[in-house]
Amino acid sequence: MGGFFGAAGKQDVIADLYYGVDYHSHLGTKRGGVAVVRPDGFARAIHNIENAQFRTKFDAEIPRLRADKGIGVISDTDDQPMLIKSHLGEYALVTVGVIKNADELVSSALRNRKIHFAEMSQGGINPTELAAALIDQGDTFEEGIAALQDSIEGSCSLLLLTKGGIYAARDRYGRTPVILGRKDGVWSITQETCAFPNLGFEYVRDLGPGEIVFLTADGPETRRTPGPVDQICAFLWVYYGYPASSYEGINVEWSRNCCGAALARRHPADVDFVAGIPDSGVGHGIGYAAEARLPFRRPFVKYTPTWARSFMPQNQDIRDLVARMKLVPIRELIQGRKFLFCEDSIVRGTQLKDTIQRLYDFGAREIHMRPACPPLVYGCKFLNFSISRSEMDLAARRAIREIEGETPVDLAPYSDPTSEPYAAMEERIRQRLNLTTLKYQHLNDLVEAIGRPKNTMCTYCWDGAEVKSPPLPFPRG
Ligand code: SF4
Repeated sequence: MGGFFGAAGKQDVIADLYYGVDYHSHLGTKRGGVAVVRPDGFARAIHNIENAQFRTKFDAEIPRLRADKGIGVISDTDDQPMLIKSHLGEYALVTVGVIKNADELVSSALRNRKIHFAEMSQGGINPTELAAALIDQGDTFEEGIAALQDSIEGSCSLLLLTKGGIYAARDRYGRTPVILGRKDGVWSITQETCAFPNLGFEYVRDLGPGEIVFLTADGPETRRTPGPVDQICAFLWVYYGYPASSYEGINVEWSRNCCGAALARRHPADVDFVAGIPDSGVGHGIGYAAEARLPFRRPFVKYTPTWARSFMPQNQDIRDLVARMKLVPIRELIQGRKFLFCEDSIVRGTQLKDTIQRLYDFGAREIHMRPACPPLVYGCKFLNFSISRSEMDLAARRAIREIEGETPVDLAPYSDPTSEPYAAMEERIRQRLNLTTLKYQHLNDLVEAIGRPKNTMCTYCWDGAEVKSPPLPFPRG
């Protein structure tokens, strides 16, 4: 995934920038980067954060990066920020999202214009470099950013730092949040509002879908007004958002508690206690326990001193190792007990199967599971995070294949919790995971727990629903 933070002030903002970016560390595991601009030019630092946290890598950079405006990013893919010199002037760019039609856009750019792209080591094009090339098609930054937003399939939210200020743009469908904050003399722009309280920022507002603002120490100026279709990713609240963050005014931990409560009402169970798999399952589990009036216990705890980050590496072997090493079971709470645990979702189910077997090895009598969201039937094609890598590996798709064979089938019944095919799929997954009971959240309960109308959220990975926006006129500011 990735996440960014920017600040523009009347004085040095490096401390805000440093901690503000750090509060996005749960969103990426590969690169951390910061760019600032001063009257004498741009300065930048990018570090590999695969084996160390952002702060440990950037401590030494602070004196070199003092400035009154800057942007930074935690990235799960490429090196960022990119420093660009173009006909628009000099700028630094960070992006979050995924450009699904990148190959097509690169070929068309190479065909029509005499430009080049620097290749990444895996042979692909750095998506932030591609974004910069598309922005440079415009006669102004606003036009270029709008052209980028309108030509890509997927999503791309960004911060673009110039000598005059910071352009902030939310992706066209608003799938990822971009949020303004303010304190005395400094304006900031973030993807996670958990960056605000300890840095003294007050929440101002969320940018709308496709909106572009230009931010200086004097405040934001809208350069493109929001589009009509809002499809914020509902998975933010279920899984990858930080508990202390709010998007569109809805807090993550609160919505997880509501998700758990909805599960308790719809799928009760006769158990000794309720648990949640750290990190994101905990909020759901607490909500379930409170609603069911059952104790909440921690039959396994996470070893936080060295496995602090919750976002998992893309490499499957490392993911499996991390999953096994970070959760430490407590025999005294497990042996002879029947209990229920909540988890944000079931993706492939391979790590989960291992975790469940370990609980039986430690003497569990019954293990019941309540995932906080419905079965993942469709791979995400809008954001760049791990569930989108291979749709056919999803636990639900595997179960559907076992039921239906290899021939492509109508997947709609598998998103309907009242249908027979859905019940058969749920039972297959239960058997594979060796659970006493498995009952998924219903989509309408999830939507109600988050508290936004369904047509203002993306729910594609559960029901395949996709809303298209008409072209946004420009300029609209
Ligand atoms: S498909 Fe799923 S993960 Fe992707 S944006 Fe939509 S809700 Fe979020």
